[in-house]
Amino acid sequence: MVVAMALINALAVEHAHGRPVGPVEPGPAIAGILAIDPPSAAAFRSGDSPGFTELARQLRQIVDDLDRGDVDAAAGRLNTFLVEHPAHPHLAKEDGRWRLHHHPADAALVPMWTSICAASIARLVGAGLHDRVGTCHAPGCDLAFIDASKNGSRRFCSTPCQNRVKAATFRRRAQTR
Ligand SMILES: [Zn+2]
Repeated sequence: MVVAMALINALAVEHAHGRPVGPVEPGPAIAGILAIDPPSAAAFRSGDSPGFTELARQLRQIVDDLDRGDVDAAAGRLNTFLVEHPAHPHLAKEDGRWRLHHHPADAALVPMWTSICAASIARLVGAGLHDRVGTCHAPGCDLAFIDASKNGSRRFCSTPCQNRVKAATFRRRAQTR
């Protein structure tokens, strides 16, 4: 889930915090995201960048569906992903410990992460937590986020965006007075 959101926010965002986002160099951005999984980071090649950029674009559509409350549309897209990139649960021994993985053992990097990202959002939707995925409601910001708040009422990606909206509302009220 962390990687899905990070890919969207690095590669499929036009505005962030009220400012347009210029073209990004996908390679370093993806390498930074994959750093949470050292074997993936080591396997990453610049030739994988277009695949990750396309994955980010498709994940963005799913998050936008969920943000609009169109869970059916998101579920349809997720099912397409899951058919094309099915999860293969298997145990792998790492550092003397067995760990459960869900992605195909020998998959290339992009299909593997497609499977992981799709499965993580699908698990959330399947658990009835689809409204916990959202995009920032501040003007000029389409960053995606996971709402971990107690009452699930989060609307902004960050405190700065929340404060921008608060300040704008305050200014509007002051002007109409
Ligand atoms: Zn924002």
